[in-house]
Amino acid sequence: KVRVRFAPSPTGPLHLGGVRTALYDYLFAKNQGGDFVLRIEDTDTARYVEGAEDYIMESLEWCGIVPDESPKHGGKYGPYRQSERRAIYDQYLAEILKTDYAYIAFDTPEELDEIRKEFEQNGDVFAYNYITRNRLKNSLTLSKEEVQKLMDEKVPYVVRFKMPVDRILNLDDIIRGKFSVNTNTLDDKVLVKNDGMPTYHFANIIDDHEMEISHVIRGEEWLPSLGLHYLLYEAMGWERPQFAHLSLILKPEGKGKLSKRDGDKFGFPVFPLNFKDPETGNISKGYREEGYLPDAFINMVALLGWSPADDKEILTLDEMAKEFDLHKVHKAGARFSKEKAEWFNHEYLKTKSDAEVLALLKNVDGIKLGNSSDEKLLRIISLMKERATFVKDIYKDGKFFFEQPTSYDEKAVKKAWSPEIAEILKELATQLYSWDLGHDALKQHIHDFAESKSLGMGKVMMPLRLSLVGELKGPDVPDILAILGKEESITRINNAVA
Ligand code: GLU
Repeated sequence: KVRVRFAPSPTGPLHLGGVRTALYDYLFAKNQGGDFVLRIEDTDTARYVEGAEDYIMESLEWCGIVPDESPKHGGKYGPYRQSERRAIYDQYLAEILKTDYAYIAFDTPEELDEIRKEFEQNGDVFAYNYITRNRLKNSLTLSKEEVQKLMDEKVPYVVRFKMPVDRILNLDDIIRGKFSVNTNTLDDKVLVKNDGMPTYHFANIIDDHEMEISHVIRGEEWLPSLGLHYLLYEAMGWERPQFAHLSLILKPEGKGKLSKRDGDKFGFPVFPLNFKDPETGNISKGYREEGYLPDAFINMVALLGWSPADDKEILTLDEMAKEFDLHKVHKAGARFSKEKAEWFNHEYLKTKSDAEVLALLKNVDGIKLGNSSDEKLLRIISLMKERATFVKDIYKDGKFFFEQPTSYDEKAVKKAWSPEIAEILKELATQLYSWDLGHDALKQHIHDFAESKSLGMGKVMMPLRLSLVGELKGPDVPDILAILGKEESITRINNAVA
């Protein structure tokens, strides 16, 4: 059975790349009728960030990516937090130490520093590997008795992987195809730290095995670890899963990885939800708070590196799952575009019903809808929705529906206003009492009125708009008149001509 896991470390917020990995994990699992598992990789206590796990869970839920198994949902392969799986790791540590693939190393950081310096002086880079391991204090260079003695004395030690010498590893990646690597280019990674906790590499393969993960889909930063992971499966005598490494999401310019700083600098979010940096206290913007709709957001993320058939662009989560194909995921990095993200939101907003948008509008922070009736709000929404990128734009661009203009745009006044036109508008205001409020009827009334004054439509429409809105923007004037109603419209005209 296909089982895919998303395995974030709670070292900070989920960013765009993390969401995409989770989404591809999910889409692939669902496409194959498999399970999607969330596992929290929290063995690195030094990098643990309080609240990050909740943040990750909340982000996934907002996106609609719901795990079948997780710390929150449970499941028969649990626990799903690595910090709760210590006994399992201890058991497999004992096993790997019996093989020729692991050894115990006692070197202190000072000793390692010393040899590192020696290398640097010769212009070389130090690595703990097949060359240097023979010069260091470990179970390969010490006698059994010496090792036992140090352990009895509780001298701190780590367990390292013993990288085989001069072997060619043939690796396979679903997205990148086959490639090979010589083990001499790899070092003896730490498997278990001196506090007894496994590192990412060891815990990760144990859990993928124990949780019967069939496919590992993750970021390309893990590609250099693939050789080690192959060998760890070999050392344990386990069948390994299939691997797929996803390319980076690039900055809008196309060069370099999209980072938090880009988002902060250019004013677009890189996190699904607002994130407060515990160190600086700064808030980095999230898509949710920025006003993105979750379905639009997830659609945008999915297409950062994958193209569905016929280059379709708008797909629901279920439609994406039906079509998703790892072989069609791009090898090249995907370039993030803020304009494209906004386009998706606009497209999704258009398709929402007015009632749905009303519910969203009422939840927008910091807006004052006053005592407008739902009926009036729905009319405003239906008029403004098509043009808006975000729900909040409906309020921002339609503010004049809720507040009378307190000033008039200077340029617009120059262009549209004169003492004569003020007189004419006064007259229009009195006639307005008897006009029908339908869009077409109003248009006809204004037309007839302009004609009776021997003026073009524009000559009347512009100053009328200015007195209702305060500037020369907004939807059709008859629509504005109809929604504001006679009384409010007349008040505004009279304020303007006063
Ligand atoms: N804990 C790793 C991370 O945070 C998981 C990598 C993997 O999926 O194997 O990226």
